[in-house]
Amino acid sequence: MKYPEYDRFSPDSARKGRIAEEEFKKYLRKRKETFRHQVALEYAATDYTIAGRADFITPSRIYEVKHVNKFRKPLKSWVGQLNLYLGMAGKENGSVIEFNGKKFREYRFDFSSRLFKESISFFDRIHSGNYRKDLRQCRFCNYSFICLK
Ligand code: SF4
Repeated sequence: MKYPEYDRFSPDSARKGRIAEEEFKKYLRKRKETFRHQVALEYAATDYTIAGRADFITPSRIYEVKHVNKFRKPLKSWVGQLNLYLGMAGKENGSVIEFNGKKFREYRFDFSSRLFKESISFFDRIHSGNYRKDLRQCRFCNYSFICLK
């Protein structure tokens, strides 16, 4: 993240995200799973570093927890995020967990080295500054208020 001081998640989304994580934490405890929460991970590319925080890491998998209004197929960006974390942590298996306020739904994925390479190429392109803005994505971006000036 280049400008964390400008990060602007809506307070409501942040609150719902925290609730989803707390509920999932209770679920893992109930199942007596060993886990680490909000685990900082890094990948050092040639001239920049990608940093992230995996929601939960257990001995067998990584979990990314998302609050959703309705269950739906996980977004491609969520799968890419989970896959990056798998690559950074050297793990083979992970899950996107959707929480709709009442229940969880789990979507399981295996690490894909092809998707990992694609993600790194994507970040290489962004880092080079040689890319075209996809305004459909910019609408959801926390930095659009400075980037699209
Ligand atoms: S506003 Fe668009 S181009 Fe700028 S950082 Fe966000 S997604 Fe990227």
